[in-house]
Amino acid sequence: MANYKKKRIKKIKRNFSWIGVVLFCIFFAIAGVITVALADVFLSMFIKNKADGGFAFAKYMAGVYESAVDKEDVYETLDKADRAYVIKDKKGNVIHEHGKITAANKGEEVRDKLMMTGTLGTVSINGLVSEDADGNIDRAYYVIDEDGQITATSVDTNSTEEMTSDSGDKTYLYSDTEAQYITTYGGEVSIDLLLFYHDYVSKPFNEVFTDRDSIVSLPYWIGYDVDGGDNLFIVQSFVNIELSDITYILIAIGLIILIAGLLFFTMVISTIVNAVNNRRAVNLLFTDMVTKGRNWLWFVYRGTPFLAKGSTAKNNYAVVNLVFVKYRNYCMCHSLEQGEIVLKRVHDRLKRLVNKKEMVVHVSNSNFALLLKYNDKEELNARLNSIINDLSSVDTAHSFKFQAGVDLVGVYKNEKGRVVKRKDIDIEREYNNACEARTTLKGSDDSGIAYFDQKMIDDQKWIDTVTERQGYAISNEEFKVYYQPKYDPVTDTLKGAEALIRWINDDMGFVPPGKFIPIFEKNGFITSIDHYMLEHVAKDQKEWLDQGKNLVPVSVNFSRAHFAESDLAEQIRDSVDKIGTPHKYIEIELTESAFFDDKKALISTITRLREYGFAVSMDDFGSGYSSLNSLKDMPLDVLKLDAEFFRGENAGERGEIVVAEAIKLAKSLNMRTVAEGVEIKEQVDFLAAQGCDMIQGYYYAKPMVKEDYEGAMEAE
Ligand code: C2E
Ligand code: CA
Ligand code: CA
Repeated sequence: MANYKKKRIKKIKRNFSWIGVVLFCIFFAIAGVITVALADVFLSMFIKNKADGGFAFAKYMAGVYESAVDKEDVYETLDKADRAYVIKDKKGNVIHEHGKITAANKGEEVRDKLMMTGTLGTVSINGLVSEDADGNIDRAYYVIDEDGQITATSVDTNSTEEMTSDSGDKTYLYSDTEAQYITTYGGEVSIDLLLFYHDYVSKPFNEVFTDRDSIVSLPYWIGYDVDGGDNLFIVQSFVNIELSDITYILIAIGLIILIAGLLFFTMVISTIVNAVNNRRAVNLLFTDMVTKGRNWLWFVYRGTPFLAKGSTAKNNYAVVNLVFVKYRNYCMCHSLEQGEIVLKRVHDRLKRLVNKKEMVVHVSNSNFALLLKYNDKEELNARLNSIINDLSSVDTAHSFKFQAGVDLVGVYKNEKGRVVKRKDIDIEREYNNACEARTTLKGSDDSGIAYFDQKMIDDQKWIDTVTERQGYAISNEEFKVYYQPKYDPVTDTLKGAEALIRWINDDMGFVPPGKFIPIFEKNGFITSIDHYMLEHVAKDQKEWLDQGKNLVPVSVNFSRAHFAESDLAEQIRDSVDKIGTPHKYIEIELTESAFFDDKKALISTITRLREYGFAVSMDDFGSGYSSLNSLKDMPLDVLKLDAEFFRGENAGERGEIVVAEAIKLAKSLNMRTVAEGVEIKEQVDFLAAQGCDMIQGYYYAKPMVKEDYEGAMEAE
């Protein structure tokens, strides 16, 4: 198969199978990126949130320290927080430490706003701690009760006024004895963290900032300037991952897995659907619509690699073009649909007649392609005959005919006689050869088998060469007129001649008419050739007439192809008149096959030619089909007895009787006779005795060039 076809098929197959996978990968990559991004945002928010809690706690401790630094139980109070901390002076000397100090450096100063969160009994406290540029710590808080209501807002240390919540519908006052200081701060409620110290100094810190059961604690250290910047209060804090966090994380991971899983599932399903569709499409690509079996494309796509395989190299194969003869007729008489039903039956029957390692496909119309394994040609021939025989009864009401063109793919061997792979095999080419072989049976409507041979290719090449060159050859005068004289067998005198064409050129040398006339007859160029010959003969005759030579009529062959032209007689007359040759020196030969055409038109043309003064002869009388019937109606001047009468078996006694009768018949129809192809003296004598008027044969002379013919004329 041509490479471009293979590429196309591969492309179709590839397109179908990979689009889904590629889309799947793209979607999956996008989903992955989104998942990772979401996880990243979620985790960083989570960690930050956790760390913020730590900041608040540490800052709170620092606040407690600062506000109670002058109290003797300050360290005792701070130690209760159960947090490692260290207070250092500027030189790094430890003033007090508690717990295991693992901080490597002195810690970062934190001056940002920090959110602190904690629970106090049943209420939760949400506060904001900030430090301004002067080191003053501003605090704000609000308290939320179990019902989620704001039950207290922060107090101003300088004011005793009541505060209103943002919603305005409730007023709360922080009522603890030492906490009458309420203020609004920067639009947000704030509270002096000291209040916590005073109120809950007797309580453990973890009751103020309850640490829920943490599963993982990641320690980090935060330092704050205390004592007016003279000392540094460094507190250990933790990012605590608690059980509830794990639950959230698990839920989040679960959600992500669920979404990714859904995506994955969708993509897997779509890929499967795609793959199934792809299979269907590829299947469709290789399915014949009429027989539902495999099609030509499949035959070509699979056949060539099959024949090229090492495992098949030792077997002989036959590529067959099997044709249902007169399928069109059958469709016309019945219906196309009915015809296709028969084709399907033929296909199904063939499927049963070939084995698994062989192939059978419906190509198109009435054509099937088969790949059969065989051992020897006789066995193959018998098998094909039996297949054809079997198929003929595929429909009980009819008997069908089948023709098979066969191309044999034998075993390839190298110089050492070893079997080699058929590397250059192309089943399309082999099938084409099989078709070519089948065309040789085209003339017949009967079943038959024809085998391809190299000569068919050579013939076709020759036809192409001839067709290609014909135009140039005629304009370049490559066609030469040869003259074959006709003699009176009694007196041995020249009575006429036939003009016979020869094609002579430098490349091809001398080409006899049998090699190109049938091609011209098929391709229509014969009409130009015959007119060309007529003109040349008329010119020669005129030249010889002017030279005072002893002229005799010269016959020119006119092929049957001309008789479609109703004015053929006029064309002949006009071209002869243009040259000025008297009509009596030109004779027109019509081949017997011409008589099968439109009889009326033929009679009319012959009659007019004779009226114009041209003699008309029937060429090759007795060859092929009987033309006795034609003789009855045709007003002819000359009957040319075919050379076959004088060859081989025909030349016996029975042959002589037929020839003698034919001559008699011609005479009684007032026709002269010419015997063609006479080569021996006995035949000449016999013909003379029968009263044959002229003999054209090798006995007297072969067709000759113009100059030699001039010599023959002069010899008279
Ligand atoms: P044809 O018209 O029957 O020509 C007679 C053929 O018999 C010639 O073959 C001639 O050479 C050959 N022949 C004559 N006497 C003998 C003989 O004693 N023994 C043998 N073996 N052969 C003999 P040629 O020239 O090869 O022509 C073959 C055919 O080609 C012609 O058969 C004719 O049908 C066709 N042809 C030749 N020239 C022309 C032409 O100009 N126009 C057309 N339409 N056909 C032509
Ligand atoms: Ca002839
Ligand atoms: Ca002839």
